[in-house]
Amino acid sequence: MKSGVYAIIGILTGVTLCSIGFALIGVIAVISISLGGESSGNSSLTFLGIGVLASLLGSLGIVLERYDKKIAALQYVICGIFVFTGGLLVFGVLPAIFFFLAGYGVYKDEKEEKQIITDQKLMVQCPYCKSHVPNGAVKCKFCGEWIVKKEEK
Ligand SMILES: [Zn+2]
Repeated sequence: MKSGVYAIIGILTGVTLCSIGFALIGVIAVISISLGGESSGNSSLTFLGIGVLASLLGSLGIVLERYDKKIAALQYVICGIFVFTGGLLVFGVLPAIFFFLAGYGVYKDEKEEKQIITDQKLMVQCPYCKSHVPNGAVKCKFCGEWIVKKEEK
């Protein structure tokens, strides 16, 4: 959830900043051509175009999060790198930070989910109060009943 918010901020700032950069460099290129100079901003414009595209592709991560968090995290990081370089560093730095935050957030979520699953596997239900107690516990810490396994009876 949190990582999705970071990703959305990354997409919005990425598209906005790279578009601003695109417009700025485009105007500078047009002015320099009209003044008789050579067009120098073409490669920068290509990079900024990549920056906008990469930002938009960041939305894929939001979809991927539902299926595979590891791939989603990777997707965010790759988008971050592309936005950073595509945005000519200056325009790409802010959205890249948000994409990296989104990637880290998804990665952390996935780790926590796994931890909860392993914790649940190590727990057994107390037959008296139905609370979850560690596997192998002799006495329930919630209701104070002695837990005797069926096979020991
Ligand atoms: Zn109990």
